[in-house]
Amino acid sequence: MDDVIISFDKVVKLYPNGVNALRGVSFKINRGEFVFLMGASGAGKSTMLKILLKEEDPSGGLAMVDGKNLKKVRGYKIPKYRRHIGTVFQDFRLLPKKTVFENVAFAMEITGASKRVIKHQVETALSLVGLSHKANELPAHLSGGEQQRVAVARALVNAPEIIIADEPTGNLDPENSEEIMHLLEEINRHGITVIVATHARKLAEDMGKRVIYLENGRLKEYEYEREDENGEQNTNLFLHD
Ligand code: ADP
Repeated sequence: MDDVIISFDKVVKLYPNGVNALRGVSFKINRGEFVFLMGASGAGKSTMLKILLKEEDPSGGLAMVDGKNLKKVRGYKIPKYRRHIGTVFQDFRLLPKKTVFENVAFAMEITGASKRVIKHQVETALSLVGLSHKANELPAHLSGGEQQRVAVARALVNAPEIIIADEPTGNLDPENSEEIMHLLEEINRHGITVIVATHARKLAEDMGKRVIYLENGRLKEYEYEREDENGEQNTNLFLHD
């Protein structure tokens, strides 16, 4: 049986200004899956991610993560809930006066972990993204691609079950974009569920993953052609009920 980690059941989001950002969205994501979230600007992608991060509550329907109804996660439990989800953003969001090591460690210090545990976890995360040798550099001394890898290490350091990347390649050149996508794929191979919101259609399709496609607050079917490892042309079609 598939192990569902995220499920949306007829989720509606009506903002106070009357904008209906999600109009009854239903889907499931299995533990360990890698999915892309796509759709034009204004389609509702950020709203969906904000619901997952418990920054917004649905106005209707049911959003569940790891068996929890998000509407019932109380205020004081939100920080703990969010630690199960690592986040990566388009603009990296590194602290400019802190070193690479400190940037990644900072995400752990608020959890009250011991110095020894923090050091070990940070070193492991930096090694996974291939940046152990830059641990003492300031972010400004790194390339954009390297800065995003630091952000990925920071997202990983608390051993999350889910990684959400919101337009992670938006500020990167094609080569670094591909590298970040492959890094996320490798992280996914360790069993972490990965959700990537992106406009980078070609980059996403080349990975051959499931696409959840939003249009004007609703899910739409999505189809793309992809050449597989044997050079055969395959059609990937994703339908929603
Ligand atoms: P996307 O991430 O796909 O660009 P969003 O979720 O940001 O889409 O936006 C979906 C719709 O909801 C848009 O019409 C947007 O203007 C509106 N919206 C987003 N956030 C808010 C908010 N906090 N208050 C009111 N309307 C919002």
